Amino acid sequence: MTLPSPTLLWFRNDLRLADNPALCRAAETGAPVIALYVLENAAGGRAPVGDAARWWLSRSLQSLGRDLEARGVQLVLRSGDARTIVPDLAHCLGAGLVAWNRRYDPVGIACDSAIKADLKATGVAVDTFGGSLLREPWEVKTQAGDPMRVFTPFWRAHQRLGEPGASLPVPAVLVGSRTPVPSEELASWGLEPTSPNWAAGFAEVWSPGEAGARARLADFLDAGLARYPDERNRPDLASTSRLSPHLRFGELSPVQIWHASEHAGAASGRAGIDKFLSEVGWREFSYHLLFHWPRLAQDNFQARFDAFPWRTDPAGLAAWQRGLTGYPLVDAGMRELWQTGWMHNRVRMVVASFLIKHLMIDWREGEAWFWETLVDADAANNAASWQWVAGSGADAAPYFRVFNPVKQGETFDPKGDYIRRYVPELARLPDSAIHAPWQADDQVLKGAGVRLGVTYPRPIVDHAVARARALDAFQALRGRD
Ligand code: FAD
Repeated sequence: MTLPSPTLLWFRNDLRLADNPALCRAAETGAPVIALYVLENAAGGRAPVGDAARWWLSRSLQSLGRDLEARGVQLVLRSGDARTIVPDLAHCLGAGLVAWNRRYDPVGIACDSAIKADLKATGVAVDTFGGSLLREPWEVKTQAGDPMRVFTPFWRAHQRLGEPGASLPVPAVLVGSRTPVPSEELASWGLEPTSPNWAAGFAEVWSPGEAGARARLADFLDAGLARYPDERNRPDLASTSRLSPHLRFGELSPVQIWHASEHAGAASGRAGIDKFLSEVGWREFSYHLLFHWPRLAQDNFQARFDAFPWRTDPAGLAAWQRGLTGYPLVDAGMRELWQTGWMHNRVRMVVASFLIKHLMIDWREGEAWFWETLVDADAANNAASWQWVAGSGADAAPYFRVFNPVKQGETFDPKGDYIRRYVPELARLPDSAIHAPWQADDQVLKGAGVRLGVTYPRPIVDHAVARARALDAFQALRGRD
């Protein structure tokens, strides 16, 4: 009896077994399945996975490899150019089918299209699926059939298309290959930093992998969803889901999140479910923008911003990156990012506004730093969010909104608990002084062991002066449309 030709299943940003349409297709064939992950080369000057996210990828691949192995399927690891690796492996295995879930960034789309054409030309079937979004980015459009630029109508149109399809179970039966396929060693990829090991704190906070993602979702639905509408802006409380890195690597799908939230039960309340799903909707919107405007991470969405007089300020940029600006909320956020690979959304907005507006440093510098330091660094969400804060984006914050880091701290971290956690040298300051230590009496500073300019910096810019400077510069852009 001749065995059916094997199926090559190519994992990318979908490192899970449940609700994985490409995996289900592979299982359905009844043929032996060989799973593949390719660590792809840098393209366009940037590695497809940033430094902090590589730590996550390493752990997530270990988890996926174990889950596949338990079902008799080998996860083959290769590094290099997917355009040669995928067709070569398919031919070498005599694969009859190659299956994958789609990606939506321009480099990924170009790569996948070339591979698909190559395989088809040589008689190998290719099946691709939507597995990373609630809806494909091209499904939502204006009445005239154009892409959408504003979130609220986008999300309404998205919802009018109806609820997403059912979440797919893990296939009951998977057939593995009897002959092992040569694979690289994960450890040889050096994804996790060693000397120095700047990711040491990550494992205390995160559990990468499908099981960790499911556990975090269950915890959030149980303990966080009902409080989410009121508390989601509070970095001092564990008030948001922290699912972003799990979503980034597809350890959980938005379809699973959607169904689990909708069935979370009456105790969570409609307001919690709607607000949470609308944030997942911002992710859909960011992907819609990236798909239709592939240069979202490179070019201002609004061309009038091309004339903006960005400043070159290496010292300011370094102070921002290290969390040494002298503004406690900004510094707490940048240090949370460094220590945990993640930052609360409210604080992301404040630190981004500080870089762009107080320091007048190009948003692309901030986007690039986040790309390397966030475990959830995501081609669509990161670019769309930075352009949103800059005011240069599609549906952007108005350019004249300059967050006041002191007021933001007082409102969203009222007792300064978040600041104390990440800026320990200020921990002994009273609540009244923690958001603006430079305004505190000498006695108060002394009592808390704070010596401005020695143990903690004075503000690197004055808020009022910086705000006026930014508004003048942004004002000059008006009328350039
Ligand atoms: P929750 O509040 O629990 O939201 C649930 C999910 O919805 C998130 O996991 C995320 O996938 C999505 N989501 C929530 N808010 C947004 C948003 N504003 N835009 C798009 N999707 C959203 N998010 C990333 O996933 N990757 C990034 O690289 C990224 N860069 C950002 C850069 C800046 C300057 C800013 C202001 C925001 C950025 N965000 C990014 C969006 C947002 O901050 C994070 O998604 C959120 O903080 C993740 O925490 P959570 O999972 O607890 O969110």
